[in-house]
This record gives sequence, structure tokens and C-alpha cells, in this order.
Amino acid sequence: MKLVKTIKEIREIVSEWKKEGFTIGFVPTMGYLHEGHQSLIKNALENDKVIVSIFVNPIQFGPGEDFATYPRDIDRDMEKCSEAGADLIFAPLPEEMYLNDFSTFVNMTGPTDDLCGKTRPGHFKGVCTVVNKLFNIVAPNKAYFGEKDAQQLAVIKRMVRDLNINIEIIGCPIIREKDGLAKSSRNTYLSVEERKAALVINKALTGGKNMIQNGEKNPDKIVSAITSVINEEPLAKIDYIKIVDADTISTVSEINGNILVAAAVYIGKTRLIDNFITGEN
Ligand code: AMP
Repeated sequence: MKLVKTIKEIREIVSEWKKEGFTIGFVPTMGYLHEGHQSLIKNALENDKVIVSIFVNPIQFGPGEDFATYPRDIDRDMEKCSEAGADLIFAPLPEEMYLNDFSTFVNMTGPTDDLCGKTRPGHFKGVCTVVNKLFNIVAPNKAYFGEKDAQQLAVIKRMVRDLNINIEIIGCPIIREKDGLAKSSRNTYLSVEERKAALVINKALTGGKNMIQNGEKNPDKIVSAITSVINEEPLAKIDYIKIVDADTISTVSEINGNILVAAAVYIGKTRLIDNFITGEN
């Protein structure tokens, strides 16, 4: 597994690969990789070469969030990448990505206004800026994002459309633990007791999904059913439960078309997100 830390070197490698006619798949991550990330890498193997970026992006974390404590282990990540079949890891230092007088940002309105964009102000400005930079540096043919971060996927698709970025964005399904908890690097923060309590998120969402499958069309009723299941768990504190259009992330008055049912819940001090999308063709 080749590890590249500078923009200059990755550009040289990518340009050699392109000269040879190779297609490039790109998987942007913050590292501490698990099977969710590995499934993205495996999807990206449809390209000739697969690049994984590992970068805990300081500008997408708000004050008081977990930037400093976010788990980091590059040796472990190199193993996970090679196991999944990636060719190269790009892991720049923050100072390589952000010069002291860095001052250009990608600022989106619309799909970023609600859900995580609302409760984590500035988060998507940081995400869009870093993903745009990584796209410019890596210049892949296709980039792979998880439906686990469904709003992020909608935001990146919108950015690519609006800014005419010539990269195909591929969404990949949520990978879960055997007991249903969505895999996340942040699950490592959970104590044994919290890990058990975290199951309430998927349990509540599954209840909501069943309501929709049984014909419920009223979003408020579904949100309130999900809310009461989560509120039964003493260690859980809801950040938001929302039902929105999966592409525009705007509020819907009826369950119809591509609908995203999204939850952000604190389990103790750890903020976890999960969702399901319904009505997809
Ligand atoms: P992160 O390292 O958390 O920023 O995630 C990097 C990419 O992996 C994002 O596109 C995430 O949506 C995706 N991802 C994270 N967890 C999962 C999961 N459990 N299933 C599928 N994709 C995931």
C-alpha cells in the first residue's frame, strides 16, 4: 500500500496513471477505516486504480466538536485499504491542505440548510471546500460516498452539478454491525452500556420504515413514533429526527417519491447519525 502525503507527489502519480489510460476511483474518508469504508473501496474497484484519502478535515468541525479526539491510526488504515484492494492512500497534513492565509470556501445554500447543516453550523462549508480541493488534487473519474451520510451525498451531488465538476458521484449502501448499528468510526467512543443503548436508533428507524411500508403517508406521525422510541432510552438525546426529500433535503408534507428519514442522536456524549431512504426505484 503506497502512502502519499504531498499534493505534488499525488499529482505526479495520477498524471502517470492517466497517461497510461487508467481510470481512477476515489474514496474520500477521515480514516479509522471500517467495513463501511471498505465497501466504498470495493465498489471503486470497477476503476483501474483506487485512491483513498485519509484526512481529518479541521474546517468541518465546529468549536467543542471532536476534531482533537477523532480516532487516527494510519498503520491500521493502510491494512484495511490493502485488504479491500485500494492502490494508494493520500494522507496530507492539515498544513499541506490549508496554507496560513487560506481564504476560499465553497458555500452552499439549499441542501445544507436543514439536518446536520442546521445543528452543525459551518459543517458543510468545510465538507464542500475539502471535497472540492480533493477533487481538484486527485482528479478522479468517479468518487464514492456512503448513504450513511445521506445529506452529505445529496450536497456533494449538488456541488458537482452546480460547479460543473466532471466527476461521477456514486452512492453506496449503509453497512451495519450484525445487530443493526450503522458502522461508524465514532462507535469507538461508546462504552459497553452506550453501545447497547445505541441500538435504539436503528430500532426506532426500522419502526418508522415499517409504518411507511404499511401505508403511513403523514411525516409528522412517523417522526413522532421514532421520537418516542428513542426517548425511551435514558442514554439517548435526540439532535434531530427529520423527514425530507432525499435530493433537495427540503421538508415534505407527504411520504411520496424519494424520501430520506434521518436521525442524529447523542448517545452519552457521542453524536451518531443514521437514516433510511424510501421510494427509490
Ligand atoms: P468518514 O470517514 O466518516 O468521513 O466517511 C467516509 C465515507 O465513508 C463517507 O462517504 C461515508 O458516508 C462513508 N461511510 C461511513 N460509514 C459508512 C457505513 N457504515 N456504510 C457505508 N458508508 C459509510
